[in-house]
Amino acid sequence: MTELAEHPPVLDQVLRRIEDRRDDLVALTQDLIRFPTVNPPGEAYRPCAEYLGERLRRRGFEVTYVRAEGSPGDCDAYPRINMIARREGSRPGPCVHFNGHIDVVEPGQGWTLDPFAGTLKDGRVWGRGACDMKGGLASAVIAVEALLDSGIDLPGAIEISGTVDEESGGYGGVAYLAERGWFSRPRVDHVIIPEPLNVDRVCIGHRGVWWAEIETKGRIAHGSMPFLGDSAIRHMSALLGRIESELYPALARRHSDMPVVPEGARQSTLNINSVHGGQAEGFEGLPSPLVADSCRMIIDRRFLIEESLEDVRAEVGEILTSLKTERPGFDYVLRELFSVAPSMADRDGPVATAAARAVRRVLGREPQFVCSPGTYDQKHVDRIGKLRDCIAYGPGVLDLAHQPDEWVGVDDMVAAAKVMALAAHSLLTGRV
Ligand SMILES: [Zn+2]
Repeated sequence: MTELAEHPPVLDQVLRRIEDRRDDLVALTQDLIRFPTVNPPGEAYRPCAEYLGERLRRRGFEVTYVRAEGSPGDCDAYPRINMIARREGSRPGPCVHFNGHIDVVEPGQGWTLDPFAGTLKDGRVWGRGACDMKGGLASAVIAVEALLDSGIDLPGAIEISGTVDEESGGYGGVAYLAERGWFSRPRVDHVIIPEPLNVDRVCIGHRGVWWAEIETKGRIAHGSMPFLGDSAIRHMSALLGRIESELYPALARRHSDMPVVPEGARQSTLNINSVHGGQAEGFEGLPSPLVADSCRMIIDRRFLIEESLEDVRAEVGEILTSLKTERPGFDYVLRELFSVAPSMADRDGPVATAAARAVRRVLGREPQFVCSPGTYDQKHVDRIGKLRDCIAYGPGVLDLAHQPDEWVGVDDMVAAAKVMALAAHSLLTGRV
């Protein structure tokens, strides 16, 4: 028998139910967009979390709200409110958890539509967070509701969470919850995060991050006699020269087993976020006639599963040490600002396999396994929760995230909801 022939008719019913709920899916996405959950500062978290939580409570979920007290940004004006809903099945079994972040980045300039109206136009829902990732969260809710309404006997448990602060690192969201056991066995076994990675892609992980600030030191002197001082900007320029001639070519040569998309990110990358050197201009923009005694640069290094954080540090450290020996007067301070380890789930693991099979079934296409160029909450599930069976799968075009006139396609949301329902069914029942 083929895989398709084994597909029980009751699952076709689930798929039809999702199709029938297209309007409900659109309305839910619109409602979520209308909560302006802008982060920072963390606007409207409570009403958005409660809106989701109350909907799920009415469907028989046990709902818990967890405020991430003491996490960055948490205060009475902007409480970090997370919602976790759990529904037990007919008997013990695995738990499938759908996690979506409810925060969005600020709308910024360039919108032709109201970013918080949730306009439906041309088969798309528009607004800040439409694709990243309220459309995905709404699809997961509809998927689960359709599965429950079908009356299929489901063992185990289903969880849906709406968490905060993903856009600022997830400390008041998934990290906070993971530290308290919400994303670990035996409570949870499989996690699907409906981030916008495109509807036929199964995202198994992301690259690592290392942010650092490097300051070169100089000696201040009168600008008319620079030879009496020592310019921190010239020292920085020497460092930039070495990065350009040595580090960039080395990074470009490095290849990865990680299927990162887009193609340009399938290697180590380094962005120079900013360089600030010398004294600020004085009144009316008149320059201060001084030799720069300090120059600071912020770097953003993204690294691969094949590299360790130690290697990444050492590579920059070696350039700095060699400049220090070769270049008279070269002195620096390096401050590490932030780091995240790369994360990659097993592409033959249960959740990736179940999602891939569901993509084939629903879309009739071979799914692509990908990794994300940037990080998302999978890092906390993996590192803190010690749960490796986690993927990102959801509707929406990755490139539209954080852009003006963000949208999510209604057909894509419906398809993603179907994939999520089939994947959850197979993970819970162990049936293909
Ligand atoms: Zn996101």
